[in-house]
Amino acid sequence: MPKIKKLRDRLLKRVKKAIFYFDLLNEGENIILGISGGKDSLFMADILYHFKRKYNMRFQMLAVHVANRIKPLKNPEKLERFLNERGIDFLIVHDENTKKIIEHRLKPFNPCYICSKERRKHLIYAAKEKDINKIALAHTIDDAVETLLLNIFYAREISTMVPKQSLFRKDFFVIRPIILIEEEEIETYMKLSGMNEYYEGKCPYEDKSRRETIRNILKELYKKDPQVRKNIKYSLFECKMEYLWKDYRAFRKAILR
Ligand code: SF4
Repeated sequence: MPKIKKLRDRLLKRVKKAIFYFDLLNEGENIILGISGGKDSLFMADILYHFKRKYNMRFQMLAVHVANRIKPLKNPEKLERFLNERGIDFLIVHDENTKKIIEHRLKPFNPCYICSKERRKHLIYAAKEKDINKIALAHTIDDAVETLLLNIFYAREISTMVPKQSLFRKDFFVIRPIILIEEEEIETYMKLSGMNEYYEGKCPYEDKSRRETIRNILKELYKKDPQVRKNIKYSLFECKMEYLWKDYRAFRKAILR
């Protein structure tokens, strides 16, 4: 069996598990795919296309890109062709405000937080307009692990992104169909299937991003002890509330002063 077919089958099984165990998708639904034009979002579009074919599941996908003038989209026509070839319609929505908000914000300066929050807002507007209540985001297991550490280091909380998240009292759902897949697997998949053209430009805040810092720390750690990667994944399922300090939250300022 060719390498790509073998890898695709393995990844499709992982997507199937996510969809089944986290209850992400139902037969006949319409979903929006948040598409940045980068590797992960293109992978999500492609693997969901193959998922529909392999498991004969009927659902419709509409790809939406939020153009916020921070990270430019390259070759939108080519991206549209890539999506159309997979039976996915493409829509670009324009957001003129986020860039201004980020440029005028002094401290605390966290462009990625503002950028992601505003992007999600515009995806919800698009979903509302199209009468769709599920938005699929291309977050991987590595994103979930990085977010866990980001939230501890910079947001003073122990939390991360979940596979399925309800918004506005279940009016909308954010779903993460590729949440069980690793970045390295996506890189290999894209290379093997010849999909090496991406449509995402460079973001001026990218290198300074806190996520990048965490990513580099994790990379070093995984290099020293590969088992750590697996251990962190397992820890996401072992949340021992009784071993956290939540009960004293009301007094935290007095205690830590
Ligand atoms: S790196 Fe941060 S600011 Fe730049 S596009 Fe991504 S989320 Fe937005």
